[in-house]
Amino acid sequence: MACDRCKIKGKSVPLETVKALIKASENLAGNAYDACMDLECDVIYYSTEQVFTSSQVTVAPWYKNFVEDKVLCYCHNVSQEDLDRLMQEYPEEGYEALMDRFKGIHDSDCLHKNPLGKCCHGTIKKYVEDSRN
Ligand SMILES: [Zn+2]
Repeated sequence: MACDRCKIKGKSVPLETVKALIKASENLAGNAYDACMDLECDVIYYSTEQVFTSSQVTVAPWYKNFVEDKVLCYCHNVSQEDLDRLMQEYPEEGYEALMDRFKGIHDSDCLHKNPLGKCCHGTIKKYVEDSRN
């Protein structure tokens, strides 16, 4: 399914995730939602019958250009800035060791907190590896 605004195909997200991250004032009309992955598009989730833009959700996805504070781990509120700081402080440490420095990071609720409803560890790993190359 392609986003209604940008016409780019998004990524399917669990219904549970959309339910958890839309504002309390919003209602779900569909049964299957995709996340719009376009960097500029203001649409966060869409279905064939409904669209949720950034002002209708409680989460700010890191992959959108208009989001300034780029959180990567939503369960523990770890931002790109936090990771940059850690990578500077421990230049010799790999992704695993850095992750262990965040207390409780392996105890997660990604389905209800991450905008894609998925574990963030792959995103963080890629961020750390890309930053170091
Ligand atoms: Zn879009």
